[in-house]
Amino acid sequence: MATPRVKLVERLVAEAGPKAIELEDLGDGWPSRVRVRVTTGWQPVDLYISGVGSHNRKQYEYRFQNPPEKSKRPIITSPGALPVLLGYSEEWGRPVCVAADVQRRLGSDHRFSVLFVVALLKAAAQRGWSEYHTTSDEVIVGFQPSLLPAFVEMMSGGIAVRERQIVDAITNAGLSQDDGEQTRERARAAASRVVVDARFRRDVMKAYAGECALCGLDWDMIEAAHIYPVTAPKSVDRVWNGLALCGNHHSLFDRHKIYVEPGSLAVQLHPDLLNPPNEACQVFVERTLEQLVVPAKDALQPKDQMFTQRYEWFGGAYAWVA
Ligand SMILES: [Zn+2]
Repeated sequence: MATPRVKLVERLVAEAGPKAIELEDLGDGWPSRVRVRVTTGWQPVDLYISGVGSHNRKQYEYRFQNPPEKSKRPIITSPGALPVLLGYSEEWGRPVCVAADVQRRLGSDHRFSVLFVVALLKAAAQRGWSEYHTTSDEVIVGFQPSLLPAFVEMMSGGIAVRERQIVDAITNAGLSQDDGEQTRERARAAASRVVVDARFRRDVMKAYAGECALCGLDWDMIEAAHIYPVTAPKSVDRVWNGLALCGNHHSLFDRHKIYVEPGSLAVQLHPDLLNPPNEACQVFVERTLEQLVVPAKDALQPKDQMFTQRYEWFGGAYAWVA
């Protein structure tokens, strides 16, 4: 007898912990309404959940399914909530969620199976996060329940993040050695950070058309820099606190060798840069624009206040500014 869907939701919520998920309306598990903690607040989510079982024809293959066709329970989008389609398994030592692409299955009441290999479950239980690419180009993601916020953040922002980046972040947070509450919380924050960084980078690149704001360089060698840094209190990951910069300008900006005047956006270079030691450095200095190039849209332009806060935060590092 399969575990009822509501029991799976209750276990998932308990496993994830109150800092990651809050139950709003248990319903019957198809869906249940929860609120998931994302970096901007609590995101309402409709969880469509099923138990994961082995597909008896092929032992290495696992699956979960929607309710039978006759019950007519399609996945729908409710206003203000994000639908999330999940399998849930406790078979591999640690609980694992398996998320499938909900968009492909919206509105359909045909019976479907989401199929994946057992390696996905094992890797997610062991490392915390794993991906499986199906032959029909679907990415199925397995993760421990406390990482649901990072998955929801990815979905709601339409962000693709490489598996390796998330695994590195949560491994550094200590998740593979220990899954105590503090470690899970640290891993959740680290995974969400990876997603937010990817979204920030995508949005900044788009606003600046992929060109360095200080020299116009393109060729996919551009990075997203925070003006008021991410390590400072109340820093925000919005385009108006970002700059698209080439690696060289980013490095000099981070080392406080470049000053952008709030308001006029005039660029001042540190005295060290005004005596280039060789021709290559001289060309680089000459190529640096005298005024920052910013997006045409007002709402995307860097806010003066972000520069002011930066200079206050780093204090004496900008004492050279004339
Ligand atoms: Zn540049």
